[in-house]
Amino acid sequence: MQTNLAPEFKNTADGRVAEAILRKCVHCGFCTATCPTYQLLGDELDGPRGRIYLIKQVLEGEAPTRKTQAHLDRCLTCRNCESTCPSGVDYGHLVDIGRKIVEAKVPRPASERFVRWALKEGLPSPAFGPAMKMGQLVRGLLPASLKAKVPAKQNAGAWPTRPHARKVLMLAGCVQPAMMPNINSATARVLDAAGIETLVAAKAGCCGAVKFHLNDQDGGKAEMRTNIDAWWPHVEAGVEAIVMNASGCGVTVKEYGHILQDDPAYAAKARRISELTKDLSELLPELAEKLRGKVAAKAGQIAFHPPCTLQHGQQLRGGVEKHMAALGFKVNTCRVEPHLCCGSAGTYSVLNPELAYELRDRKLKNLAEMQPEQIVSANIGCITHLQSGTGTPVRHWVELLDEALVG
Ligand code: SF4
Ligand code: SF4
Repeated sequence: MQTNLAPEFKNTADGRVAEAILRKCVHCGFCTATCPTYQLLGDELDGPRGRIYLIKQVLEGEAPTRKTQAHLDRCLTCRNCESTCPSGVDYGHLVDIGRKIVEAKVPRPASERFVRWALKEGLPSPAFGPAMKMGQLVRGLLPASLKAKVPAKQNAGAWPTRPHARKVLMLAGCVQPAMMPNINSATARVLDAAGIETLVAAKAGCCGAVKFHLNDQDGGKAEMRTNIDAWWPHVEAGVEAIVMNASGCGVTVKEYGHILQDDPAYAAKARRISELTKDLSELLPELAEKLRGKVAAKAGQIAFHPPCTLQHGQQLRGGVEKHMAALGFKVNTCRVEPHLCCGSAGTYSVLNPELAYELRDRKLKNLAEMQPEQIVSANIGCITHLQSGTGTPVRHWVELLDEALVG
């Protein structure tokens, strides 16, 4: 698509990146068919092709409005459109640029500004853990809408203490240790059983996605630099990988190299960090090999919901089902719309609850066709969002594997 950048964007880093992305789009509309918000709303401007067009108009100098902002806000950033696009349009990076520009030009009402501020400052803050503990104490008294955001208190079990020559770093995450601490300790136990030690750098915190996607891109970048500084001594000491058990964090850390490419002090380190980053499921081929004979898988159908950040953001598909099956688990994805977002999408379920819950219920209906004993996923956001709509237990797949370890 030919774009004539307005003078304010010509010769800027964002302008150059956006122009190159726009040039690839041939406006065919294949992406529209698989876009969740287009499927729900049926409005061209709530599909990828329409949003791309809106961003192009803004880059060409047209003044964005609240309506432009709403169409961009309603995008889940699920990147399903990238998986469908035959021309390789990098929609995710384009929408980041579009949102940043629109945010700077279109003021939001005070109430919206406050909610977004509370989310971006509150979720990654050290105060989140104590607040979650408090919420769990009074969980039974909370209204249903709030209770859905506060998982019941979870026992994390013991963290393995055996040293191993093979070491990986793991990002504990900002909300995960408070909401579902067993995911991290189960990861460490499974890796320990395979002869790999899990290290957590105390000073690493939020991956930066929360702030970055709420248009505080500078705040997100600051968190990314903090993580790089916290991890760097371990990288120099030779850790094999930086493991992510939340695919939403993984997709972001794999982008550090791109996001910090113009930062002379961090570009090279960020690139190295991204190269070393692996979703936990990328270790599964080796784990399945090493853990054979050490796992007693329970019978029973398990339904796997692959998060968008795994199947579209990281383009990782089929690994969990295949390798868990090799270990004796009966894990399948749903037959209908396995590619579609569950509506969680980071803070989306708070900012766009109607669409988020509609997508959640649609996903749960499709998963229920399998009559699963349990649902598993690979991202804490999807797990808590899906759990809020079903009595069937929803967990991380690594918790199942951990529970089945023998001895
Ligand atoms: S499928 Fe790709 S090329 Fe076609 S309209 Fe969508 S983004 Fe553009
Ligand atoms: S990222 Fe998802 S919601 Fe946004 S335009 Fe693409 S397919 Fe639609």
